[in-house]
Order: sequence, then structure tokens, then C-alpha cells
Amino acid sequence: MARLVRKEAFECDPDFCPRCGSILPLPGESDVVSCVLCDFKKDASEFEDIEVHSRKVFNIAKEKTSNSKDSEEPLGPMADRKCSNCGHEGMTYTTRQTRSADEGQTVFFSCPQCKIQETEYS
Ligand SMILES: [Zn+2]
Ligand SMILES: [Zn+2]
Repeated sequence: MARLVRKEAFECDPDFCPRCGSILPLPGESDVVSCVLCDFKKDASEFEDIEVHSRKVFNIAKEKTSNSKDSEEPLGPMADRKCSNCGHEGMTYTTRQTRSADEGQTVFFSCPQCKIQETEYS
């Protein structure tokens, strides 16, 4: 496993792919860094603790917006429900109380596979 050690204009050392040892690209627009060689993917948030302090300063505004957009809804509890769209077994769900109490709560199901959303009123 030959590691390419290459200092570029960055202040911090780049991270290395744990699979093939090549240099991972820096987290840029997306929240996921993927290895160009072996397709290994790494969540860019994992970089934050390690070495991204200087870069984080530049990207704070961008990270905030992209995080809330890309992470979508955090995976909630799984419901024993089959997706009507793709047939995937198990959907995550969140509940929300509607404004008037007598309407009960609304359950939002979300398929982790095809991302379809279903709403159910109980
Ligand atoms: Zn790799
Ligand atoms: Zn589905």
C-alpha cells in the first residue's frame, strides 16, 4: 500500500483513504468525500474533529446550509411498514401533533430506500 504523501497548498494534511491509501479529496461542495480510486465514501463531518479547523472557518456558512439540506431528515425510528412505492420493508417515521388536539397526531413515514414520504393521520 503505497501512500502518496504530497504537500499541497493546504494548511492541513489531506486525509487518506483507509481502503486503498490514496489521498482523499478535500470536502468541498458536498458533505461526502469519496475516494476517486476505490469509491470509498466518507462523511465530511468526520473530518471536523481531525484536521479541518482552518478550512472550517472558511466553510462555516456553507456547511450550515448544506448540512440542513443534505442530511435530510435524520433517520428516526423504524416502523413495521412496507413502502407502497418500492416495497422496501420498514420505513422511518416521525410524528407531529397537529394544532387542534382532537385531530390527533400525524405520522410521517419515509422510505429509506426510495425516499418517498407517506402521511397518515391517526
Ligand atoms: Zn480508496
Ligand atoms: Zn420505497
